[in-house]
Amino acid sequence: MHNQEVALIFESSTPGRIGYSLPEMDVPELPLEDLLPTDYVREENPELPEVSELDIMRHYTALSKRNHGLDSGFYPLGSCTMKYNPKINENVARFTGFANIHPLQEESSIQGALELMYDLQEHLTEITGMDEVTLQPAAGAHGEWTGLMMIRAYHAANGDIHRTKVIVPDSAHGTNPASATVAGLETITVKSNEHGLVDLADLRRVVGEDTAALMLTNPNTLGLFEENILEMAEIVHSAGGKLYYDGANLNAVLSKARPGDMGFDVVHLNLHKTFTGPHGGGGPGSGPVGVKADLIPFLPKPVIVKIGDEYSFDYDRPQSIGRVKPFYGNFGINVRAYTYIRSMGPDGLKAVTENAVLNANYMMRRLAEFYDLPFDRHCKHEFVLSGKRQKKLGVRTLDIAKRLLDFGYHPPTIYFPLNVEECIMIEPTETESKETLDQFIDAMIQIAKEAEETPEIVQEAPHTTVIGRLDETLAARKPVLRYIK
Ligand SMILES: *Cc1c(COP(=O)(O)O)cnc(C)c1O
Repeated sequence: MHNQEVALIFESSTPGRIGYSLPEMDVPELPLEDLLPTDYVREENPELPEVSELDIMRHYTALSKRNHGLDSGFYPLGSCTMKYNPKINENVARFTGFANIHPLQEESSIQGALELMYDLQEHLTEITGMDEVTLQPAAGAHGEWTGLMMIRAYHAANGDIHRTKVIVPDSAHGTNPASATVAGLETITVKSNEHGLVDLADLRRVVGEDTAALMLTNPNTLGLFEENILEMAEIVHSAGGKLYYDGANLNAVLSKARPGDMGFDVVHLNLHKTFTGPHGGGGPGSGPVGVKADLIPFLPKPVIVKIGDEYSFDYDRPQSIGRVKPFYGNFGINVRAYTYIRSMGPDGLKAVTENAVLNANYMMRRLAEFYDLPFDRHCKHEFVLSGKRQKKLGVRTLDIAKRLLDFGYHPPTIYFPLNVEECIMIEPTETESKETLDQFIDAMIQIAKEAEETPEIVQEAPHTTVIGRLDETLAARKPVLRYIK
């Protein structure tokens, strides 16, 4: 019904109906051929729907309601930190002095923007315990690649060109091995032990003279803190390798523990996750990278410097890996993150971590009775369940995720990390109330009961969405991006 309505509005084109009104032309009308090379002038008018302003408004509003966003409901997508995006961030990002600057303006006329970037770098340096930060990378994965390129340049500068291996745990996010490959390095996998943590014996086995770096997420993608982190740092450093911290899970340790203090040499942050940049649907993101002192010469250029009270771009960086993003990085997301950090303050950021961890543990304990809990220990900001018990009843994790749509929730992350069978990865975040957590828990409990009593309800879900099950692989590989009648 809903589906048809949208299609009908789109197709109810009536010749001559218009949705705009423009003032009379008060400049001489030039023939099109004088404005564009004739090759570019189309022979026929495009087939656009001719509709009123009201029709088009309803069309887009109807489409927007088919989407699930944070502002419409709970979004416990593990590893993605789908926390509330405070609206004050939007107000500040829209200040004309930020929103309307041109990328090629004189440095003297963008001192405020440069000051904000410089100050944000200083805050992130403090938060991560590193020595300097670049804001250029446009996402977490881009930050990973930038960090690895710096590590590569560092080793090359020391004549260590045989250091080509990046050690990555089997629980790692897919971007880690991908970034290593794109940076021209090779990935070696290190196993997790029965507690879900990196197996130290296996780490000792794979580390060596060819080690460029260990890439680690902490807490890892199972939501577990790597308790042997200092020993791991020691193992890798004494072999001459560097330590790379995937900071996507920083929401678990923000203002409590710092990658720099754990022995890491490079870290990326996802400002669109931990620092409330709106995300999902493809960005824009921001993936600043922090480094320890010995990697500073390799930072992307230009670097923002402060001389007296003046800010400027320093291009004189002979060892830099070069520019990784045009102009200022994704400046708008940086403004939002800066606003968030300043409005929360240090105590506010501590409370973020405490509540994120509390919420996750509360949910994990209440759900452990109904779903298998592969690692029965305190989690950090997220946790994984296994749908093994339900699978024996013929209900797969995918079915559980689809059934959650009927309750109005975005499903958790499923089938990741890869080292847990029928994995369900839940990250509630700190911004959700106890009532919301309880309602979601009730829905999960109801689904567990349905799996036992009426499995077909779960197997055939979703029942209430505009579109039922679709071929997600086909949709991702061969997307249809044009309207087809
Ligand atoms: C999200 C995420 C990334 C990648 O970050 P993007 O900003 O999506 O490129 C890397 N590692 C982990 C653990 C993540 O959760």
